[in-house]
Amino acid sequence: MTQISFEVFPPRTPEAQARLQQTLEALAPLNPRFVSVTCGAGGSAADATFGAIQSLTAGSYAPAAGHLTCVGRSRAQSDAEALRYWEAGVRHMVILRGDAPAGQERFAPYPDGYRSAVELVAAVRAMRPFEISVAAYPEPHPESRSPLHDLRVLAHKAEAGASRAITQFCFDSDAIVNLRDRMAGAGIPLQVVPGILLASDFAAMTRMAGRCGATVPGWLAQRFAGIDNDAERRSRVAADIAASQVEHLRREGFDAFHFYTLNQAELAHAVCGPLAFAPAEARSAA
Ligand code: FAD
Repeated sequence: MTQISFEVFPPRTPEAQARLQQTLEALAPLNPRFVSVTCGAGGSAADATFGAIQSLTAGSYAPAAGHLTCVGRSRAQSDAEALRYWEAGVRHMVILRGDAPAGQERFAPYPDGYRSAVELVAAVRAMRPFEISVAAYPEPHPESRSPLHDLRVLAHKAEAGASRAITQFCFDSDAIVNLRDRMAGAGIPLQVVPGILLASDFAAMTRMAGRCGATVPGWLAQRFAGIDNDAERRSRVAADIAASQVEHLRREGFDAFHFYTLNQAELAHAVCGPLAFAPAEARSAA
């Protein structure tokens, strides 16, 4: 059976909170292995993430995973945040370095803060036996020094206690396969889980890709060309693109996928319904 998981972001308004609740209810029947909640930098953003995690656990929709970054917190504050999750019953963390806050060009550690995902993974794992997922980049991270250095960072993430690497979304499936194979070749014991973007708004998708250094291929622009005002057709195209990528990667041997839902359940159902309910063998024989 193919494993699926979802990412949602914390709501900022009561209306968005109500929508997230509906989304979580709608995602639950797809039996996700976990649902993770993204986080912004420190303070109120952390409370928003924690609040969304509480909604998840209170509704028993799925096992929850909290995202935690190094941004905007001292080491002691990061440690306290991780403990807050543990005490709330959360056993899975997605640990990241985080991006530079708005107005700051490059990431700089907070005074007495953790300097990288590796450091934060080690600290969180030493505190409690969390399951830990980390980020990996099929297209190099914008700050990457070299592919070899990125592999070393992934090896350090595994040594520090991570067990799963969720990839940045990437429309070039061969780059994802290549990353998995290079990691396996280097003996890095992390499960590689492709991150699949579920988005039907091409302009928003392009903005997101720009922010995280993902390439938007010409064929993707063509698929969405001329349908800006046809939401139904855009959804069908988006579902088809995501489902095709999942099929391709399943043929390459991947058996777990993490979907960036943007808090919308419809596309998740269109793409994951068959994955969640049909045994993998039956689907590949069809
Ligand atoms: P790191 O693995 O620490 O690496 C960042 C860069 O630093 C890399 O170039 C790496 O090579 C280099 N580096 C790492 N360690 C060292 C070292 N010891 N010495 C020298 N160089 C080093 N951001 C958020 O703000 N909130 C979220 O919720 C969030 N969720 C995400 C979920 C996923 C699945 C992914 C893929 C990304 C997510 N991000 C999130 C974005 C992420 O925070 C950024 O991409 C960030 O710029 C890098 O984070 P990282 O954990 O990959 O950093």
